Amino acid sequence: MVFKSGHAADNLAAEVGRLRASRVMVIAAECESETAKKVSTGFDVALHYSDVSPHVPIAKAKAARAIASEYDIDLLVCIGGGSTTGLAKAIAMTTAIVAVPTTYAGSEGTNVWGLTANSRKLTGVDNRVLPVTVIYDAELTLSLPVQLSVASGLNALAHCVDSMWAPRADPINQAFASEGIRALASGLQAVVSDPAGIGGRERALYGAYLSAVAFASAGSGMHHKICHVLGGAYGMPHAQTHATVLPHVLAFNAQHAPEAEIRIAAAFGADSAVEGLDRLCSALGAPSALKEYGFDEAAIPEAARLILPAIPESNPHVVTIDDLERLLRAVWSGRPVEG
Ligand code: NAD
Repeated sequence: MVFKSGHAADNLAAEVGRLRASRVMVIAAECESETAKKVSTGFDVALHYSDVSPHVPIAKAKAARAIASEYDIDLLVCIGGGSTTGLAKAIAMTTAIVAVPTTYAGSEGTNVWGLTANSRKLTGVDNRVLPVTVIYDAELTLSLPVQLSVASGLNALAHCVDSMWAPRADPINQAFASEGIRALASGLQAVVSDPAGIGGRERALYGAYLSAVAFASAGSGMHHKICHVLGGAYGMPHAQTHATVLPHVLAFNAQHAPEAEIRIAAAFGADSAVEGLDRLCSALGAPSALKEYGFDEAAIPEAARLILPAIPESNPHVVTIDDLERLLRAVWSGRPVEG
């Protein structure tokens, strides 16, 4: 992992040289292509590829794999957000990845892949999709609008919170998650008060990396299972979905997970975990209602039925279909869970 603001291009060229790659495919979405061009000047590029979509539709993954094979690609360089990294992961079974993230999604720090087929998001774990090198350069996130920075940072914060009670939660990944919460809370507030400042964005990237390591180690908890269904089956935008769901899952689980509650509250420097997150979300002007992103209230019963079987047994509190419907109604409206 290489972390130095303003040095992505040098560091990337050095990594491509170290890996002795000669047929490099640079993946970046259309709106990330300017950044990608700036960052990939120090080595020969065999193919620039930009057909990136959220949640990696399987047809796009197949097309990208076919073209990588046709061009005899020996290294994938992905420059962009989680969708761009996700496409690289879908090709990566035979080819290494160097990731240059430009959001706080954290996909670059996990061995988790995701694909969407028939409106269902499939995820799996395979060490071959973990990038061999991650190059962090906070200057590349300066162009991320404040509202998207906030939503993306709360996606990272959700990795930390969910790691506290995910199936393989342990004191080591909980320590990473606690430090991730501290870094993200202070970094995101600095991004909002000074969007052009580099310090807050560096802290947010550092927190995003910690959050990804904690998440990869602990696995997916209740929060991620809910967001997978909302993204895969209903096309909800990833970061904003995480931001709107998180306060409700925390409120649901915290009272039944006293040790996690104490860790999260301490990381926020608040009297309780719920109060700490609520205060942060208000200070950031975070997205709060999924109806604003086109989620249809009528879909709630079906979404609850899709989510229920995926809730891990490790969840600190038993979850019923009624709980999920109430929680989704709160996520939809942005108001606290009723009852
Ligand atoms: P995204 O990659 O779709 O990016 C959101 C938008 O911001 C896009 O239009 C993108 O082009 C633009 N963008 C990215 N960086 C920018 C920058 N610096 N300046 C301006 N615009 C910029 O969204 P995301 O939230 O980063 O990633 C979401 C995807 O990542 C989802 O598919 C999710 O499943 C996946 N993900 C995977 C993991 C994992 O461990 N496998 C973890 C987190 C997220």
